[in-house]
Amino acid sequence: MSDAQIIVIVGAGQAGAQVAASLRQEGFSGKIVMFGDEPGLPYQRPPLSKTYMKEGNPDRLLIRNQAFFDDNDIVIRSEVRVAAIDRDAKTVILADGERQPYDHLVLATGAINRTLPIPGIDLAGVLELRTLAHAEDIRGRIGAARHIAIIGGGFIGLEFAAMARGLGTDVTVLELADRVMARAVAPETSAYFDEFHRSIGVDLRLQTGVKEIIDRGDGHAGGVLLDDGDRLDADLVLVAAGVAARDELAREAGLPVDNGIVVDPMLQTADPAISAIGDCASFIHPLADGRMRIESVQNATDQARAVATRLAAEASDNDHPPYSGFPWFWSDQGDRKLQIAGLTAKADERVVRRNNRGGILVHCLKDGRYVGLETVNASGDHLMARRLLSAGIELDRSSLEAADYDLKSFKDRLT
Ligand SMILES: Cc1cc2nc3c(=O)[nH]c(=O)nc-3n(C[C@H](O)[C@H](O)[C@H](O)COP(=O)(O)OP(=O)(O)OC[C@H]3O[C@@H](n4cnc5c(N)ncnc54)[C@H](O)[C@@H]3O)c2cc1C
Repeated sequence: MSDAQIIVIVGAGQAGAQVAASLRQEGFSGKIVMFGDEPGLPYQRPPLSKTYMKEGNPDRLLIRNQAFFDDNDIVIRSEVRVAAIDRDAKTVILADGERQPYDHLVLATGAINRTLPIPGIDLAGVLELRTLAHAEDIRGRIGAARHIAIIGGGFIGLEFAAMARGLGTDVTVLELADRVMARAVAPETSAYFDEFHRSIGVDLRLQTGVKEIIDRGDGHAGGVLLDDGDRLDADLVLVAAGVAARDELAREAGLPVDNGIVVDPMLQTADPAISAIGDCASFIHPLADGRMRIESVQNATDQARAVATRLAAEASDNDHPPYSGFPWFWSDQGDRKLQIAGLTAKADERVVRRNNRGGILVHCLKDGRYVGLETVNASGDHLMARRLLSAGIELDRSSLEAADYDLKSFKDRLT
């Protein structure tokens, strides 16, 4: 893009902040304007369900400080919602009607927590966790809570459960599926965390739905009514039932959406002047069979870098390789660090090993080839899997068996 051009970013989160920073690193010297509907500067969300509840220092969450954005001439307009896109005029329209033209638009709008269509969902004391404001609200209440019911045994529900147990609060996790984190991890990893959470005193109830959140009599939640008719007392109820992509702007502008904003392998939407990245983007990855959407820091950061490289390079007309960022993820639950390298969900065979730090390694294969590794408290192995797989090194079952699945044995294949 030429230096006189304007790149507008909608969403001042992990992906938005990174694409702005990377554009400057790549030498783009046009105008960058980023809109975010939350207050303050872009911040990291992962600590919100982990260390932040104890520390409570929002400055430690910042992705970059104000001086960075000033020094790099990146305009951040906080607490400003983009209400619509006028694609013909290449302009975004803000909630107050102000118009901001763009030459290229990057949608980095993230995701929104799913709510539940059950009675009582609007009662006071029914909480969610996605933003710093949510975390502040929870921090203000958690000290006085004796019993918290968490609806959803996914990453955020379980991280929060372990954190709350660390504060001495009674916790019940209510999960509809027959195992925790069922959408994201192997059954062996679910079983490991099932045992861990019970060992720290979490009352974990699987295959348990919630019919209603009960009013204690003053408009505040006092418990939950379960599908089987059981009643559970709770001072607070955290709804952690997954997220949906914030794809409404794109949809209303006539762009295709399919569980997220549909982008091509270059992360470009059907409109060549608009890209989408991070939690909101439905994309194609060379390691995956079909379209997918990933909610992770790695995905937001790597997609932001890829788009920045493409946009900065367009001025010099370079070739742009399709996006191929190697997927990896982590989740800290109490003193257990879960790490995932690769796309393990597609595995048809798994081999489990335990380490001497109380951790577990779940090696994942598909059609006899290594596709990923899920680990707990085994960061060295996680990093080795990432290095081998992201370098495209193919490991088959027989060589893995010969090495008893010790990935360090394959280190010399890395150049
Ligand atoms: C509690 C919690 C814990 C997590 N833990 C982990 C973890 O351990 N590991 C990991 O890899 N990932 C974790 N994640 C996920 C990770 O934080 C997200 O994948 C990442 O933040 C996605 O970045 P993003 O920029 O796509 O979206 P976000 O960071 O959500 O940013 C999007 C921003 O766009 C704003 N926005 C949306 N629409 C508009 C509009 N129309 N106008 C203006 N602004 C708009 C939103 O308000 C938001 O501020 C966690 C997430 C949460 C909530």
